[in-house]
Amino acid sequence: MGNEMKVYDVTIIGGGPVGLFTAFYCGMREMETKVIEFLPFVGGKVSYFYPEKVIRDIGGIPAIAGEDLIRQLEAQAKTFHPTIVLNQQVLGVEKVEDGTFVLTSHTGERHYTRTVILATGFGALKSAKLELENACHYEQKSIFYDAIDTSLNWTDKHVMLVGGGNSTVDWAIKLLPLAKQVTVVHRKNEFAGIGRNITYLKESDATIWTPSVLDGLHGDDVLTSVTVKNLESGERQKIEVDAVLVNHGFSIDGGHMKEWQLEFVGSNISVDSGMATNIPGVFAVGDIVTYPNKLHLISGGFAEGPTAANSAKAYLQPGKKLKPLYSTTYEKLQK
Ligand SMILES: Cc1cc2nc3c(=O)[nH]c(=O)nc-3n(C[C@H](O)[C@H](O)[C@H](O)COP(=O)(O)OP(=O)(O)OC[C@H]3O[C@@H](n4cnc5c(N)ncnc54)[C@H](O)[C@@H]3O)c2cc1C
Repeated sequence: MGNEMKVYDVTIIGGGPVGLFTAFYCGMREMETKVIEFLPFVGGKVSYFYPEKVIRDIGGIPAIAGEDLIRQLEAQAKTFHPTIVLNQQVLGVEKVEDGTFVLTSHTGERHYTRTVILATGFGALKSAKLELENACHYEQKSIFYDAIDTSLNWTDKHVMLVGGGNSTVDWAIKLLPLAKQVTVVHRKNEFAGIGRNITYLKESDATIWTPSVLDGLHGDDVLTSVTVKNLESGERQKIEVDAVLVNHGFSIDGGHMKEWQLEFVGSNISVDSGMATNIPGVFAVGDIVTYPNKLHLISGGFAEGPTAANSAKAYLQPGKKLKPLYSTTYEKLQK
């Protein structure tokens, strides 16, 4: 049987913080686990919205940057070697005659699993793209959405940022010491965000073009220059750039979840105390679920993951009593 036809014990849809911790716990329960994530990276809203921000309300961790929390969660999830599939949005969930679930993603790929744990947050986060004809040609080569890989060498590069919100301002400040030149293009004269950061940016070496938009992209394989249009004067100028980072906001795509015969209360999936949905074999955790006094926080989801994993395990071995599980071992940890 080829890997693509392999039937997993459990497939977690969504690789946010709750999906990752759930994957770890499914491994603890010795279930063959797959995680499917729409974005090209794991971490969900933490990676998407606030990788740099400090989180202080996770038990046992007084303070941690979002990206560090996700790095640790990913490492923890990988303890039991789950399969992690990125860049796929699950659009269809179908239970076939033998009880196996067939999940179909937007790429047409099919995934086979005995149980499903939904950890989809509010849905797939989709970046607003540049509305220029050839923009997709340069995507991930010279045009980046939401974030740029700062571990790459930008010292000889001119990076242009497009947008006027917090993210653009933050990224411009972050890139100033890393790149040869930083330019910001914003359609309005005023930036939104934290006042002291905006002042810092305006007083920095960054070049700022307002009220302006990108009007053309030029280059064969990679971008070599762009045309910037001033919205007041209509004047156009060609500028040589190496990379463009776009922060135009996002939309949330719930996909076809409402067609999966799940019981919804508003935008959330109703679950019982075992995190079971109305469909036998389908469980849900994290921001997508609702029950009385549900806590839409990471710590709330962390409690739900092990519960859902235990329920999935119990579903797979009916009649067998599930023993409580401790993770403690005698090991010498590297300090
Ligand atoms: C600005 C901000 C600050 C916050 N600060 C805190 C804080 O300090 N402390 C705290 O506890 N919480 C905080 N939160 C809330 C916290 O981020 C969420 O509770 C948490 O991210 C929920 O995790 P999740 O895994 O359930 O969902 P998400 O983080 O939303 O992850 C869900 C993932 O599923 C993916 N997905 C969705 N549908 C599909 C599909 N069909 N196929 C494949 N993949 C799919 C999405 O792309 C996403 O990556 C904050 C939220 C925001 C926006």
